[in-house]
Amino acid sequence: MNKFETPSLPYDYNALEPHIDEATMKIHHDKHHVAYTTNFNKALESVANLDGKSAEDILKNLDSIPEDARNAIKNHGGGHVHHSFFWEIMRPGQNNNAPEGELLEAINKTFGSFEKFREEFSQSAMTVFGSGWAWLVVDGGDLKITQTSKQDSPYSLGHIPVLGIDVWEHSYYLKYENKRADFVDAFWNIINWTKVAENYSASK
Ligand code: MN
Repeated sequence: MNKFETPSLPYDYNALEPHIDEATMKIHHDKHHVAYTTNFNKALESVANLDGKSAEDILKNLDSIPEDARNAIKNHGGGHVHHSFFWEIMRPGQNNNAPEGELLEAINKTFGSFEKFREEFSQSAMTVFGSGWAWLVVDGGDLKITQTSKQDSPYSLGHIPVLGIDVWEHSYYLKYENKRADFVDAFWNIINWTKVAENYSASK
């Protein structure tokens, strides 16, 4: 039986201040993420033959999940995987942080420049309608900006996420209220480009 656990944050709740406030991080991690993980485990109880599979592998093969459990596994499994991913691609703020090396080359090649990529990704994050995510993914070896609704997963589309931003209101509303654009702007200060570059390398 799979028993997934909510990973601890790799930094303190207040470490992403002033860009993401401590209260938001506490609720987001301790309540929202924990609930996704708990409900994912519950949903898995009724499904046979998943022992030893990673959560990502389960999302890659949603079609093989019996229909009565599929939606719960998509929603809560997605929530569990995406939040585990999200904490890791952030780190305490550093000014002017940006990708380098192989990842920067790929971004330049795909989007023209880092600035253009930043504009396009921000635009994508701004235009997710309702709850969802914007992603930088690898799709068949190529970088691509995508959106998913709710906790629908890039993994289920055959994409490998490299960077992602959670634009559910629970992710920013306490501090930014309805100003999603300010949250998206702030996000660029706290991206862990080292981790994003690792995600990109691992996708190959
Ligand atoms: Mn969230």
